[in-house]
Amino acid sequence: MSELESGALKDLPLEELVACHECDLLMRRQHLEPGHKAACPRCGYELEAHRLHMVKRCLALVITALLLYIPANFLPIMHITILGQTSTDTVWGGVQGLYSSDMKGVGLLVFLCSMVIPLAKLLCQLFVLLTVQLGVGRQLGMLLHRGYHHLREWGMLEVYFMGILVSIVKLMDLAELHVGVGMACFIALLFAQVWLEVTMSDHQIWHALSEEADDAGH
Ligand SMILES: [Zn+2]
Repeated sequence: MSELESGALKDLPLEELVACHECDLLMRRQHLEPGHKAACPRCGYELEAHRLHMVKRCLALVITALLLYIPANFLPIMHITILGQTSTDTVWGGVQGLYSSDMKGVGLLVFLCSMVIPLAKLLCQLFVLLTVQLGVGRQLGMLLHRGYHHLREWGMLEVYFMGILVSIVKLMDLAELHVGVGMACFIALLFAQVWLEVTMSDHQIWHALSEEADDAGH
């Protein structure tokens, strides 16, 4: 960046500046039209996106994900038949199985990463979106949105799903496998969650929350 440019940026107020999350390039914030996006000129990372009807679309996705959460965890992921004996496996059953065997720590970890944290994350998102939609509970909304960002790193449904796929491939030769309804719900939940994360535009949420907080201050 030239001296002239950095000098010009120095005089701008902080709200006018934006730093690229990936390559740290400092730029002047662009005011986006609805439906437009801004990308970093250096590395191409999406800086901000203004998505149309973002809150309503996200609310639909978060409610879908919450509805799928229970069948995904408590309905059978697969039916396994070995030597004529059929057993049915659910995510919850897997957690209980690990806990009651010698692997209490692993059981607890699977319980946290596949059940508790994904649910906490979805509830945080639901609350934040309701806060923005209804314009109430702003301070708590900000706190929960920050909490959601911390939880994001800990919810590992994708990793858990990979584990299921690996075990299916390994068991295929040994046993007769039938995929259960729980598996379909689990995959749908995974999709809903990824879609939600892509749709929920961070800067729009922060903007809405801080605007409301400013209003509350007056
Ligand atoms: Zn960049």
